[in-house]
Amino acid sequence: MPRRPKASTRSPAGTPRVTTAQRRRALRLADALRDAYPDAHCELTHSAPHELLIATILSAQCTDVAVNKATPALFARFKSPQDFAGASPADIEPFIRSLGFFRAKARAIHESMRTIVSDHQGRVPRTMDELLSLRGVARKTANVVLGNAFGVASGFVVDTHVRRLAVRLGLAPAGASVQAIERRLMALFPQDRWCELSHQLIFHGRRACKARGGSCAAHPICRSFGVACERRDQRQSKGEKRARRESNLQPSASEADALSS
Ligand code: SF4
Repeated sequence: MPRRPKASTRSPAGTPRVTTAQRRRALRLADALRDAYPDAHCELTHSAPHELLIATILSAQCTDVAVNKATPALFARFKSPQDFAGASPADIEPFIRSLGFFRAKARAIHESMRTIVSDHQGRVPRTMDELLSLRGVARKTANVVLGNAFGVASGFVVDTHVRRLAVRLGLAPAGASVQAIERRLMALFPQDRWCELSHQLIFHGRRACKARGGSCAAHPICRSFGVACERRDQRQSKGEKRARRESNLQPSASEADALSS
């Protein structure tokens, strides 16, 4: 009878059990990513917690570069949560019109800032549950705010890069949901590395690990961990390109729920 892998009992509550060998491999990978991307950081421009919250809401299905182009004028016009709460979504829309789903995002920004003013004395709350109660905020946004504005390691920021890399690096099974990937990463990595690792994975995804794979010619980090993604045909049919464009424009289920709730 095959021996069952040794399972560690140290997984955080609510996360899957992982073996000691899996955790050791994950830690070596974390060290390699830290060496490769020692300066990995949140690339959304902000100077206050509420600005980070707003920038992260705006980043759904948009690049950080596009968000950073829109936010200077927005934050110059509305300087505080009170300013946003006292405005209307229609007042906010012109500043973010260049971004996808700007009407839904304007409503989410306005509603979330109103709640912050009415229920939290104008300060961005510091707990996951409170953040999730704000319109436009799902776990990804809450993790960004908690980790980067308050230094609270509450989970992983599972964006499109982290999702892709978690599967390619053998950290999560193909087809796993965003929630399952986050729980798996939380089980594999030490909590004090969650925030920096989110950034390091995102940096690796942006700089080396392209969606179609292979452009990295097997990155040294991946090679040393036995990851060698096959190069996919660079030529895509018109249908594939259209499908890809359309899927890129749709918010994820959790983002869409948060924006419309
Ligand atoms: S080998 Fe290349 S495509 Fe595969 S995970 Fe590494 S960087 Fe990404």
